[in-house]
Amino acid sequence: MSQHKSYIVGNWKMNGYQADISKLQAIADGSGSDAGVEVAICPPATLIAAFAQRAGGVRIGAQDCHAKSSGAHTGCLSAAMLKEAGATFSIVGHSERRADQGEGDADVAAKAQALHEAGLGAIVCVGETLEQRDSGDAIAMVTAQLAASLPGAASADWLSVAYEPVWAIGTGRVPRSEDIAAMHAALRATLTDRLGAAGAGVRILYGGSVNPGNAAEILAIPDVGGALVGGASLKSETFLPIIQAAP
Ligand code: PEP
Repeated sequence: MSQHKSYIVGNWKMNGYQADISKLQAIADGSGSDAGVEVAICPPATLIAAFAQRAGGVRIGAQDCHAKSSGAHTGCLSAAMLKEAGATFSIVGHSERRADQGEGDADVAAKAQALHEAGLGAIVCVGETLEQRDSGDAIAMVTAQLAASLPGAASADWLSVAYEPVWAIGTGRVPRSEDIAAMHAALRATLTDRLGAAGAGVRILYGGSVNPGNAAEILAIPDVGGALVGGASLKSETFLPIIQAAP
């Protein structure tokens, strides 16, 4: 099991303007004294540079990157561009991109590989739909998804994984604690199969409707190394209590 600090990551999705830098500063000020927790925000790409200049101890990440390093890919951003802007890592394979942009596991692995080559960390997201949960296939499906989403270059010190059930994102629903624990144990086994003993050091975050009311219980589940937080990360009033709930 990971010996790292808890890792609490805010995914702002397509929300935020320059005027919201005050929210970042409130999060940085409010979380700065908690040495046991590592905090990150993934703002929209338009805010990465401005946020990186004012982040204090908060890590700034991107929400996606292109798999290629340059070329004719209108509207896309390479890992090196995100790094130059000030990101130190990126989310890849978020279920909203898998659904909205049709990204498959091979696309996610190629993006993660591009991050590795650019010297950026990766949070690789995986998670089942409600149909897959109801059919009893969730663990088999999500572990296969992770195995296929890891690039050849995967290494334990560079990688984090986020387990995010699609049906829990933005819905107010969360799995039972025992189901989160079972999934994280299965993902841990997939990581140690792939990375050997070093796989024990990869942080596995839980994401999906984490809020101030449920964070302490979720973060206390065995092998939950932190949280990927969407809606509740947009305001310091809801994000700071989640950070403070980390063990
Ligand atoms: C997410 O989209 O990564 C997420 C966890 O969202 P929310 O916390 O709003 O469910």
